Amino acid sequence: MARQQINNQELIAAIATPSGSGGIGIVRLSGCDIASCEKHLLDRPAISGHICKRDFLDSAGQTIDTGIALRFTTPNSFTGEDVLELHGHGGTAVIRRLLQRCVELGARIAEPGEFSKRAYINGKLDLAQAESVADLINSTTERRAKLAIASLRGELSSRANALANQILDIRAHVEAAIDFSDEDISVNSLQEIRGKINQMIENHQNFLTECKSSIAIGSRANVTLIGAPNVGKSSLLNALCVAPLAIVDDKPGTTRDVVTATSQLDGMEVIFNDTAGLRQSTNVVEREGMRRANLARDDADIVIQVHDITQPAKRLRAQLHVFNKIDLSGQAPHSSNDEVFVSAITGAGIDILRSQISRLLNGTGEEPTFLARERHAQAIENSLKSLIAARRDDVYLEEMAEHLRIAHNEISKITGSSHVEDLLGEIFAQFCIGK
Ligand code: GDP
Repeated sequence: MARQQINNQELIAAIATPSGSGGIGIVRLSGCDIASCEKHLLDRPAISGHICKRDFLDSAGQTIDTGIALRFTTPNSFTGEDVLELHGHGGTAVIRRLLQRCVELGARIAEPGEFSKRAYINGKLDLAQAESVADLINSTTERRAKLAIASLRGELSSRANALANQILDIRAHVEAAIDFSDEDISVNSLQEIRGKINQMIENHQNFLTECKSSIAIGSRANVTLIGAPNVGKSSLLNALCVAPLAIVDDKPGTTRDVVTATSQLDGMEVIFNDTAGLRQSTNVVEREGMRRANLARDDADIVIQVHDITQPAKRLRAQLHVFNKIDLSGQAPHSSNDEVFVSAITGAGIDILRSQISRLLNGTGEEPTFLARERHAQAIENSLKSLIAARRDDVYLEEMAEHLRIAHNEISKITGSSHVEDLLGEIFAQFCIGK
């Protein structure tokens, strides 16, 4: 699948392990002239495909560090180029010195994502796979990491490629019809083309839905707790996030700013916002707290109104109503429709509440099978728009062919098999250095 003959570009180097001290620190090099760099850097050359214990030397031949050298020969490497990995000790000073030595020997410090960009340019990964490398590294939940691996293994790309191939098939059909246009194109043939476009539109819509639920998993969800003072919002936040974060007090009006805590729900990262209790108040600070509570409510994906079950209160606009303090009313924890009955103090019903929140955040959609980004959803939407335009009754065959060409081009942007040069800088700049 190489896009072009692999062309060993200028030598780049970067520290591939996170900053700070650790057991192992890795400097990675890729590009041309690795052999001459290696000659001066190692006590003897590394052997491709072997694990080689070597001394890493400075310009005076003194040992900077001793460790493992791994040599990969083009095209059998991550970037497709000649690659050398130096696995030394993960001390900040020693690893920096090693990188500095590589620069002395002619390497340039790599830009963020430059190794992955070269892997893409050399056809080792398509664009969606390269993006999934960054997504995998940045995954903070198991679920997201699992989906990123699926994308890296080509799940998203194969779905996009299948759609691109189907559009190509219709394009061929339309182009053939244009070539025979002096004989009138048969109604049957036109109907067949429109039928195929309809099918494509449906396939795009399904793909888009799955992409969007995948994007939702990738992004953090915002859940805001509202309600009168003292109903137990702070206690609930603490129960949901396990560790005590918000100040709990029996004096109403304790929470005056928005307290934020992050927790994981079914592998999704959720930010919980505990807000100032909503009540009439003349206190300036408390009123500012309520103003911020209203802002947090506007930003929320889900708003939960907390009630004290012993003190019936007005129902506000919220997706979920939590009746707290059931230990005082003697009720058992349960849920019905948009209501959940819990006790923040005893923890009863908190698991039910967590699964209700998760259900609201995930909707009832199917579990996605890959990790997608906004860019991918945008490409599908653009392709879909062109397909809808191609389907219109009043379009000439030539116009239809043009709409289909654009649709094909747009869907191919997902894997980067069509015009994406202008996107590359933006995509790879979001990577970490060394990847
Ligand atoms: P907020 O003002 O809504 O944030 O309420 P807090 O979380 O500060 O709680 C107000 C008071 O209610 C505190 O004294 C809590 O200990 C008490 N409280 C909170 N949740 C429960 C509960 O489930 N059961 C009982 N018995 N008391 C609770």
